[in-house]
Amino acid sequence: MPTVLGLEGSANKVGAGVVRDGRVLSNRRATYVTPPGHGFAPGPVSRHHREKLLGLVEAALGDAGLRPADIDGIAFTKGPGMGAPLAVVAAVARTLAQLWGRPLVAVNHCVGHIEMGRLLGAARDPLVLYVSGGNTQVIAFSRRRYRIFGETLDIAVGNCLDRVARLLQISNDPSPGYNVEQMAKRGTRLLELPYVVKGMDVSFSGLLSHVEAVTPSLLASGAATAEDVCLSVQETAFAMLVEVTERGMALSRAKELLLVGGVGCNGRLQAMLAVMCASRGARLCASDERFCVDNGAMIAQAGWEMLRCGHSTEIHQSGITQRYRTDEVEVTWRD
Ligand code: MG
Repeated sequence: MPTVLGLEGSANKVGAGVVRDGRVLSNRRATYVTPPGHGFAPGPVSRHHREKLLGLVEAALGDAGLRPADIDGIAFTKGPGMGAPLAVVAAVARTLAQLWGRPLVAVNHCVGHIEMGRLLGAARDPLVLYVSGGNTQVIAFSRRRYRIFGETLDIAVGNCLDRVARLLQISNDPSPGYNVEQMAKRGTRLLELPYVVKGMDVSFSGLLSHVEAVTPSLLASGAATAEDVCLSVQETAFAMLVEVTERGMALSRAKELLLVGGVGCNGRLQAMLAVMCASRGARLCASDERFCVDNGAMIAQAGWEMLRCGHSTEIHQSGITQRYRTDEVEVTWRD
């Protein structure tokens, strides 16, 4: 019964979680929150993670009722993500592995989201929509890889929402996307915004720069409210995602759709995807913020699968990488 500790810190969340044979024993997380109007930079985020991570590991072991000797392996996020925060987490993982004499497992962050989603949604062979602040991908499993069927050509959908929040000076607590979602519920006017789908790919940078250009005058003249802007950005961006996801389901003949990543918490996106899935006789597997948002348990779960198949990472090969595509990983634990 391998018990795996997973450490995550590729963006502004840092987490430690413990998984044992398909059960999440603990999942602790801390989030670096910036003031309204500001994003987060690698330096301050990495200092935040450095301050929090050891306490989170201790708490995760405590919640699980385990001692270090009960841990069979240490999984950590190798990438993709922000360099300095990834490096902090990798250093802690390497240290614990050597201190406790346990194998180290380097995990692809996107694969972590997928494996956690598969576990929670009990999904066998889903099409995956992975939407977050750093990633936007439509993924399907084929010939031992999580293959990318469609993706953003520029910024991630979550980055687009975060930057709309920044433009409107919306709070980043608990997350900018959550607050944009709440404001969108009070919007009444749908503004026409750039809708960019190219085959299976989407683009959000034109939508964002258009919103940045027109919003000040719309608000000043009273032609639209900040709530209307939130509503319109969500409706447009999510419609683009639903379109490519539906095409992906048709191509892959998937009967399950797995929604993962921080934007996957959004109730409006879930509702739109649920309508699409229902019309195709498919099942939507969504999750809540405990597991959608970056966390340590998802890294532990992917690490558990890898460890089970005999994978581990030598210390001298345990470097991080900011660019690490989902389809680079050979998925030996599925057939
Ligand atoms: Mg993520």
